[in-house]
Amino acid sequence: MCAARQQDDEGPFAVTGEGRAVALFRLVLAFMVVVMLAFVLVEGWRIWRDYRQAFSNAENMVTNLARATAQHAEDAIRQVDAITAALGERLEGDGFERIDRPRLHALLAQQKNIMPQLHGLFVYGPDGSWIVTDRAAIPPKANNADRDYFVYHRNHADRGVRIGSVVRSRSTGDLVIPISRRLEYADGSFAGVLLGTIKVEWFVRYYGDFKIDERGALVLAKRDGLILVRRPFVEQVVGRSLANSEIFRKHLPYATEGVAEAVAVVDGTPRLYGYRALSSYPLVVEAGLSRESIVAPWRHDAIKSVAVLLLLLLGLAAFGGVVLRQLRGRIVIERALHQAHQTLKSLALTDSLTGLGNRRRLDAVFEPELRRAGRQGYPLALVMLDLDYFKAYNDRYGHPAGDQCLRRFAEVLQQALKRPADLAVRYGGEEFTLLLPATDSYGAELLVQEVQLLLRRQMLEHTGSPLGRVSFSAGIAVGDQAREEVTAESLMAAADGALYQAKRQGRDGYCVAAGTAVGVGP
Ligand code: GH3
Ligand code: MG
Ligand code: MG
Repeated sequence: MCAARQQDDEGPFAVTGEGRAVALFRLVLAFMVVVMLAFVLVEGWRIWRDYRQAFSNAENMVTNLARATAQHAEDAIRQVDAITAALGERLEGDGFERIDRPRLHALLAQQKNIMPQLHGLFVYGPDGSWIVTDRAAIPPKANNADRDYFVYHRNHADRGVRIGSVVRSRSTGDLVIPISRRLEYADGSFAGVLLGTIKVEWFVRYYGDFKIDERGALVLAKRDGLILVRRPFVEQVVGRSLANSEIFRKHLPYATEGVAEAVAVVDGTPRLYGYRALSSYPLVVEAGLSRESIVAPWRHDAIKSVAVLLLLLLGLAAFGGVVLRQLRGRIVIERALHQAHQTLKSLALTDSLTGLGNRRRLDAVFEPELRRAGRQGYPLALVMLDLDYFKAYNDRYGHPAGDQCLRRFAEVLQQALKRPADLAVRYGGEEFTLLLPATDSYGAELLVQEVQLLLRRQMLEHTGSPLGRVSFSAGIAVGDQAREEVTAESLMAAADGALYQAKRQGRDGYCVAAGTAVGVGP
């Protein structure tokens, strides 16, 4: 029992060096894992935040770009709208037959000079012939009756300004956006068309001034999707329709301005677009930054961060590895030390000849067992055994045979002990002691009888003994602290006395001591 308790005291995390080293090892390992995890989490969060930030910045930028280009287009067109409105009012008011062509030409030329976006100002008669323009000369037989805007105004009575698709100017060959309105006679019949043309080049130059990467896009389109101007500008794009684009289909019908990610129908580039429908005219602007231009700087930064993080983690792991390896070395040493200590301890408590415990072992457990018996209120039996005529045995058979006999006797004792708490020690020479917790004198007697029986069965010859075989004498003392005060010394003395009594009574028997008084056994 006592042996088991000693082991309990030194459980896996006892205050041994090994326990401490193992705890430190785990602590360092956990610390490293937590630190590395923290690094990864913080860096991961930062990279994600930068990604969001890049997009949020880009959203602001495309929104501002869309506002600026929308304002620009609106201003350019409103000026032409205003001048054509004023001119129409004047022509219709004055009467077409009273047109003063030189004066009107001068006015148109002057207006054209103040409006840099203007390509030209034109007045056409009901048959499409040129009546007056801002130019000095009118080409002979010039007629615009076939133009789309002319046909429209001839057939529609609405008086608003109309923005047409891009056409190539007949007078200069430039690409222009026609801004036109219908002229009427007093009776409401068609009197011709007033036309102001805006140079596509005007927009192209303005769009070119924005500092966006070459994959960015700026688009001015009619509300029906027809492209008027685009950066990057290629002539083939003019007249293509965005009607099927994501923004025209999914976003514009629900919001006149906003931001959306979409793949461009013109060049297939994924972009973040800011779009805006003009408030006064059926026009839409789109400003797009390529996804790549938004993500590339972030990616560059993220790759660098991840590389630095990996280096850091690698360094940490290497450093941690060294520390852990050292700790593991310490654990191995501590374990070896602990084992050596345990071995030494058990060696110190073991009798080398018989393998039983020795006297030190008995000394170590006697007091604690006695206290425990007192606490729990059970008797504690102590049996002292001494081989009979052993000196003679040695003399007769020699010392080595005597040693062998002692070993056999030790085996017999161990065989007889059934409970794990029972302890047999070699007290010294050919004297043995049994310490039997929770055993009364009856139990102790039974045990001694069992030893006698087992020893007899061994049939160890001893011609130097009157019995002719090896025998022993025993003294039993049982301490019952419920009845009397018992100490280790008093119990030993009582057992010793009983043994002496047994010897005196002729050996090969046992006596039981009653308390301090000596009782005689059978
Ligand atoms: P009795 O006990 O019956 O009175 O007689 P005894 O001959 O046994 O008496 P005693 O106790 O005086 O003798 C003990 C002998 O035990 C002395 C010694 O020769 C022998 N002895 C003691 N230790 C050892 C040992 O380790 N090995 C051997 N072989 N003999 C031992
Ligand atoms: Mg002796
Ligand atoms: Mg003896």
